[in-house]
Amino acid sequence: MSDQARPSPPPFDPERFRVEGRAVVDWIADYWATLASRRVTPDVSPGVVAGQLPPGPPEGPDSLAEVLADLDRIIVPGLTHWQHPSFFGYFPASASGPSILGELLAAGLGVQGMLWATSPACTELETKVLDWLRDLLGLPERFASIGAGGGVIQDSASSGVLVAMVAARERATGQRTNAAGLAGFDRPLVAYASDDAHSSVEKAAGIIGVGREGLRKIPVDHRGCMDALALATAMDADAAVGRVPFFVAATVGTTASGAIDPVAEIAAIAARHAAWLHVDAAWAGAAAICPEFRGELVAGADRADSWGFNPHKWLLVNFDCHALWVADRRAIVSALSMKPEYLRNRASESGAVIDYADWQVPLGRRFRALKLWMTLRMLGAEALRGHIRRHVSWASEFADLVAADPRFDLLLPPNLSLVCFALKAGDDATRELLDRVNATGRTFLTHARVGGRFAIRLAVGGGTTTRDDVLATWRVLENLA
Ligand code: PLP
Repeated sequence: MSDQARPSPPPFDPERFRVEGRAVVDWIADYWATLASRRVTPDVSPGVVAGQLPPGPPEGPDSLAEVLADLDRIIVPGLTHWQHPSFFGYFPASASGPSILGELLAAGLGVQGMLWATSPACTELETKVLDWLRDLLGLPERFASIGAGGGVIQDSASSGVLVAMVAARERATGQRTNAAGLAGFDRPLVAYASDDAHSSVEKAAGIIGVGREGLRKIPVDHRGCMDALALATAMDADAAVGRVPFFVAATVGTTASGAIDPVAEIAAIAARHAAWLHVDAAWAGAAAICPEFRGELVAGADRADSWGFNPHKWLLVNFDCHALWVADRRAIVSALSMKPEYLRNRASESGAVIDYADWQVPLGRRFRALKLWMTLRMLGAEALRGHIRRHVSWASEFADLVAADPRFDLLLPPNLSLVCFALKAGDDATRELLDRVNATGRTFLTHARVGGRFAIRLAVGGGTTTRDDVLATWRVLENLA
């Protein structure tokens, strides 16, 4: 523990950093090398980690060795290992060596990219990398930065839907909410998303003042896809009584089952009401880099106002990295641009540059484009496609094993690399099986409600996962069922 007599080293010492940086990189490499031998989830009770930490920070400095020893002793045993090869819960938070090096470089450079003028390369690399990525996914030209649209990196898909909804409100109210708020606009705004849309849509509706009650939840069919006819009926009914249908969120790859809403049909309905269409492809969007999966993933994108996905879910870029494209950047900028005197500069006033602070909620922003750039450059598109393809094929193999076991129901054909299944014996038996499987610490799965049933979800997508890990998870399931 800390020795008060020890002198504090300077916080910025290149030589010390060289040595300690290597030690930390070695620590991370050792962690990765031993991941497979660890439990996926921790076996700790609430308060156990906090109880091992002192009540306050040390007065004098602790050494890196002391801190790393506590990391090993106190922190790591209290972690869920999201990069574990047998992590199949939620959706993956995939990462890769190149991306983490990009993260380290971004921290090392320590620049703020809020305005073009505060670090021109930070903005220009982001614009370029999102143009590359748009191209790789086969998204329409309207999202390219050379036109009226363009891409931006947000921290998360939740922020993506929030800024899309703010831009939609701006457009629906005649570019006024940034200045006058909703004063004088007395027609209620209504947003729409399916029952299976991510909770972030509801959260955004609450934040922007439309309210959760101002979000209509549209029913889904047996596969979890939005019922487009029900959407049309709801929008028409609202418009008929003077409400303003201003925003529709379509989901490409729902969290529960990976279902894909009929975006092209939804786009036509939204257009009839001039409502903003946002496509949330948080997890599934990554698979559009493979031409064979692209068709249904980008269908209708040519009529969407915004389209976003998380490279941090399935494209080997570590959290946080949400790629959001808009077809016309005017509404987003009109809603979110703030230029107090201390931020004014000639480049912004020339109109020739992008100031990404105008495309997001916070002012400051990290140099996230570096990790995306490094992942794309150091892995290459073909390796990323292989990563997605392998997961889809292992999920399909796993689904066949489930379907062949008479005790299980495969609830849906797998959507990409997500498999939803249940025990025929019912919800309670399925929940108990999930608990028993996770208690082994050898694998980790989560659940959702699919078609009204308690479903176990297997989401394949981690950077360290192999086919053997997927098959081993099936063996744990079949033995404990
Ligand atoms: N949208 C969908 C479809 C998701 O599955 C998720 C998370 O799993 C989100 C949005 C939220 O993602 P984030 O954590 O990036 O806000």
